[in-house]
Order: sequence, then structure tokens, then C-alpha cells
Amino acid sequence: MTVEQRRLLTTEIPGPRSRALHERKGAAVASGVGTTLPVYVERAGGGVVVDVDGNQLIDFGSGIAVTTVGNAAPRVVEAVQAQVAAFTHTCFMVTPYEGYVAVAEKLNELTPGTHDKRSALFNSGAEAVENAVKIARHHTGRQAVVAFDHAYHGRTNLTMALTAKSMPYKSGFGPFAGEVYRVPMAYPYRWPTGPENCADEAFATFVEQVHAQVGEQNTAAVIVEPIQGEGGFVVPAPGFLARVAEWCAAHGIVFVADEIQSGFCRTGDWFACEFEGVVPDLITTAKGIAGGLPLAAVTGRAEMMDAVHTGGLGGTYGGNPVACAAALAAIETMQADDLCGAAKRIESTMLPRLQALAEKYGSVGDVRGRGAMLAVELVEPGTSTPDPALTAALSAACHREGLITLTAGTYGNVLRFLPPLVIGDDLLHEGLDILDAAFAGHA
Ligand SMILES: *Cc1c(COP(=O)(O)O)cnc(C)c1O
Repeated sequence: MTVEQRRLLTTEIPGPRSRALHERKGAAVASGVGTTLPVYVERAGGGVVVDVDGNQLIDFGSGIAVTTVGNAAPRVVEAVQAQVAAFTHTCFMVTPYEGYVAVAEKLNELTPGTHDKRSALFNSGAEAVENAVKIARHHTGRQAVVAFDHAYHGRTNLTMALTAKSMPYKSGFGPFAGEVYRVPMAYPYRWPTGPENCADEAFATFVEQVHAQVGEQNTAAVIVEPIQGEGGFVVPAPGFLARVAEWCAAHGIVFVADEIQSGFCRTGDWFACEFEGVVPDLITTAKGIAGGLPLAAVTGRAEMMDAVHTGGLGGTYGGNPVACAAALAAIETMQADDLCGAAKRIESTMLPRLQALAEKYGSVGDVRGRGAMLAVELVEPGTSTPDPALTAALSAACHREGLITLTAGTYGNVLRFLPPLVIGDDLLHEGLDILDAAFAGHA
């Protein structure tokens, strides 16, 4: 079933059927599981989500950077249907199958660097991050892991420890895993002495803090998102990542790039760290990998990945055959349809319009991101004081008009845009018109 690529509002948002379902949710689903926009989905395709009231919403969220190839992408649907009819599960650790091997081959080929690589597959991003840490510890014989301010790495115990933001991710859920240390991120917009000093000073602080507070000889891994996701699409100051990676190599520390949100053509490259020529030792992927099916991976240097004894990595569902079939179809779509090029096209359409907003409205403190991973940071005009209330109000205004937008940021003051890479220019402009109008209505 294909979905017509246009916005259509038939009721207020959310409509009566969605509201009724939301009441059922309240009575049946744990309230800790929140929803950004309580419209209940009936179907979706490309860049449009259709709700149970017949409203058609423009999707600037992709289910948090997951449906990069579009929702219900034709190749993915076909591959999943064929695989699910052939077999649904055997457990790769019991009786293996080709799909898992083929996904590993693709990941080894597409991730940065020409060195010998191996991959292991898991179910969720958090699980991939946990396994990257296991591998780094096993390989180095060290325990400490260094993560950054504004980082987001997941919601399991170890990944909560790696994640920076307390509310809602960590608050009340401690104690957290040990041997996790946090250092400042090279966040140009908020660097105290100005963006021009950010890379140098952040790198110096990083080196000094790891040396003095952790010890290089105790440090197994440094983990970083090449563009931070939940933390507010913070793009590290140019040169910072490369210097951190180089410093890690000099000290035998595993440099882990968490590309769970930024990977798979999202930023205009296959992986965001390619933009600066950074080659990670280990890279974690998930979200965009499989067109919406749950799959995640760790890919990295063969000697590190293979340091773990047989049986030390795995999981019942890791690399499920249906998810693997979806991943192969999603990757084929990215290659055949040049979705890296599509992300660059989206940037060239969206970025000037976001910059125009910044010129018009003092509340836009910063416009940043790359490819189809773009954001505006909202502040009280003339200051850099975060304005989370305006951010929430603008997002709600977009939702009412049938545009799915997401917020982010440590201070809750970032509007982030993650359209599917197959979205048409007309929908993109229409979504931006809605955003314009939302700003005009809150000026
Ligand atoms: C979403 C995300 C995770 C966690 O992935 P889950 O599949 O939700 O466990 C980890 N790291 C980054 C950068 C993410 O964006």
C-alpha cells in the first residue's frame, strides 16, 4: 500500500480516534513510556505518516532517525516479506544463516577505514554500545571509559552511566555502572571563550582531565557521537574529533564512534566521522541501519573485535534474519538511490531557510548540523539563556499543523530535524513553511 505524499488534516491534531487510543494507553501502558505526539499511526510511507483519523502528517523525525530510507520502503517491505515466509529465527549462535554474514560484510566495507574489520550484530543501540565497551575492555585489559558532556548512549545501566542528561534518562535510576568518566564536549556555541577557541581548549581540557583524573594506562575507551544526537545536534568544533582519535591511538585507547543516530547517509556521508577524515577503532550503528526493524552493530578493527573469546558476544535475537534482510534492503536502497546525495540536497534546501529564521528571530541562537541532521537552538533574544518553553511551544504549533518535529538538547531548547532522505522537495518546503508560521506566531 503506497501513501500519497501530501499533508492532509481531516480533524484537529490529535483527532478523536487518537484521543480514545491515548486514553487506553494511559490505562494500559506504563506512564514512564512517553509519546512526543499522541497521534496513533495507521500506516506510513515515504515522508508521510497517516493517523487513525485519516490525517496525513509530514515526517521531520523519521522515528528518531530510523526510517532514513522512508517508511515502509518498498525494497525493505519486499525483503522482509520474503524472509519472514522463509524462516523467522534460528538464533545465529545455534544454526547460522547468510543474512547475518552479508550484513557484517556490508558494514565492514562501508564503515570508515580500509583496515581488516569484523562486525557483531545486536538488537538495540544501547546493546551495541554495551558490547563496544566489553570489546574495548577485553582488548586493552583496562576498565575506564570516557564519555562527553551532552552525550547520549542509551538507557541500560552502563549506557545510562555514559549518558549525560539526568532528566528524564537517569533520574532515580542509580546507582550507575562504575569506571565511567565525563569530560567537556567541544560545543562551539556554548564554549566560554568563544567558538574560535573551542577545539584547542576543549582538546587541552580533555587531555588534562583524562591524564589527571583517570590515567591513560587505565583507560579502555573514549566514546563520542561525531554529531551528538539527543544532546542537541552538537557538532564538535572542527579538528577536535581527529585530535582525540589521534591521542587515543598514541595511548592504546580504543576510540569508539557512536554513529547510532548520525550514521547511514544521515549527514551526507555514510558515517559522520568521514567528514573530518576520522577513522574510529570501533563504530556502533543502529537506528537507520534496517529501515525500521530492530538491528544494531559493532564494527571495528579485526584484532580488537577478535580479542573476545568465542561465546563472549551474542544474544538470542542479535542479527535476527528478518532484521538482517531489512538491513540489506535498506543499504541497497541507500546505495542505489544515492541517499548520501539526497541528504546533501536536503541540507541545501533546509539550511538557508533555517538561517533565514535566525536572521529574523532573535530567539534562534544557533543553526547547526549536517545533511538531514539539522537543528536550531532557541534562547532568550540577546542572550544564550536556553528557552525550552518556546521550543516546546513551537514544536506543539508544528504538530497542530501536521508536521512531526522533535526536540532535543541538555536544556530542552533544540528543535531538531531528521526527515527521511526520500522526502520530496515540496513536502520539505511545506514543512518549513509550517515552521516559519510557528515562529511568526510566537514572535
Ligand atoms: C538512540 C541512540 C542510542 C540508543 O539506541 P537504542 O536503540 O534506543 O538503544 C545510542 N546512541 C545514540 C547516539 C543514539 O542516538
